[in-house]
Amino acid sequence: MNEKLLREIPPVHELKRDHHFHLIRKQYDIKEDILTHALRETLDELRTSIRNGEWSGTALTPYIWETLSKRVHKNSQYSLKKVINATGTILHTNLGRASLSREAINRVVEVAGGYSNLEYNIDKGSRGSRYDIVESIIKDVTGAEAAIVVNNNAAAVFLVLKALAKEKEVIVSRGQLVEIGGSFRISSIMEESGAKLVEVGTTNKTHRKDYEEAITEQTSILLKVHTSNFKTIGFTQSVPTTDLVSISENYENLIVYEDLGSGVFYDFTQHGIGDEPVVQKVIESGVDLVSFSGDKLLGGPQAGIIAGKKKFIDKLKKDQLARVLRVDKMSYAALEATLQAYQNGKALSIPTVRDILQTEEEINQKAMHVYTEISKIEEIEVSVDKDYSMIGGGTMPDVLLSTYVIKIKHSLLSPNELAEKLRKGTSSIIVRIHENAILLDFRTITQEEIPPLLDALKLVTYHD
Ligand SMILES: *Cc1c(COP(=O)(O)O)cnc(C)c1O
Repeated sequence: MNEKLLREIPPVHELKRDHHFHLIRKQYDIKEDILTHALRETLDELRTSIRNGEWSGTALTPYIWETLSKRVHKNSQYSLKKVINATGTILHTNLGRASLSREAINRVVEVAGGYSNLEYNIDKGSRGSRYDIVESIIKDVTGAEAAIVVNNNAAAVFLVLKALAKEKEVIVSRGQLVEIGGSFRISSIMEESGAKLVEVGTTNKTHRKDYEEAITEQTSILLKVHTSNFKTIGFTQSVPTTDLVSISENYENLIVYEDLGSGVFYDFTQHGIGDEPVVQKVIESGVDLVSFSGDKLLGGPQAGIIAGKKKFIDKLKKDQLARVLRVDKMSYAALEATLQAYQNGKALSIPTVRDILQTEEEINQKAMHVYTEISKIEEIEVSVDKDYSMIGGGTMPDVLLSTYVIKIKHSLLSPNELAEKLRKGTSSIIVRIHENAILLDFRTITQEEIPPLLDALKLVTYHD
């Protein structure tokens, strides 16, 4: 039976004369040899499944055209695609963290599509340095003497430790030996860098004298890590940055380095949100170096920014590792536009800042709009409820932002099934599930995303 079926598969040259072959070619605008290759692979797979007795189709040729068509379609799709974030979590690490500002996006498009002065000094007509692109803005906004940008903040921590503390000791409080997102552990990064970790204090309390007593000839850095993704509450104590600075003043070349994690240029505390110190304040406190992410609360592209004393930044710039961790032109374009928004007092043009400050009224308006459009659909039970959004990205874990959500229960689908349909639909909508319903948080859904969201909601309520 199988042998007979195998013999019935038409040869490639014959299939290529079939009008289906030319239809698919036209539809996807692909070259003949590419489609022939896909056809051969389709036939190989068909033969394998026939041999294994797995093929259960009825007519061979229609099956071949259908599978070929699916295969070509899949190759025309991107695996990295836009999703609609209906979770309300603003810096969702799984969903790509910060959304870029319009200006940042425009700059990326402009710079990426042609040549740029990435490493060229236009004034002098000679070689320039990519380090100069954003250094002066960072200096201006933070008050630091110098700055360098690397691939991400994990890379920033690694570079500082390797370039300035290799085979030397770095003192860290036990309360700050954090793990972020399961993949970044201060202790592991330190091991990789060759710096020796000296832990002081206990998980909940570390005192000034713990640091003082641990300092030896070998000590190079007093490291403070912003415990951004958790809060120790109750009987706790950590040593203020200013104390670390005053300790270091008694030694020559003892560096105080603060890994801020998120790092903000916009003061959210003026709105009663969180207690993140602006980078400028941290620099003012006298630290030698700080580092922070580009795509967390700053709201820019993935990057790690290191700012501080020029003599240390110069050492970092000269280290071979800086070359390994360097940032490309698209990231520089987006980062410059993002930083410039802060410099020019336009922080609200940055989606991350805007979404954190979004008012309940603005969110409610979007939710009500969608509610009125879908409330009459029979298959679902819909309500608009008050809820809370998280900031995410491991930042400000204790901050809950008041928001409005739409709660949907489907008469036939479980919340998981409904969530799956929305996720796998053309608009890839990612929702929250809570107590037998799905929740759509309108803090992270933009006005432009509402029409495709409505289409998707109307579509999943049909059943065949
Ligand atoms: C997030 C974070 C990092 C890592 O930053 P990436 O930009 O994700 O590499 C390092 N340290 C702290 C304290 C963080 O919160």
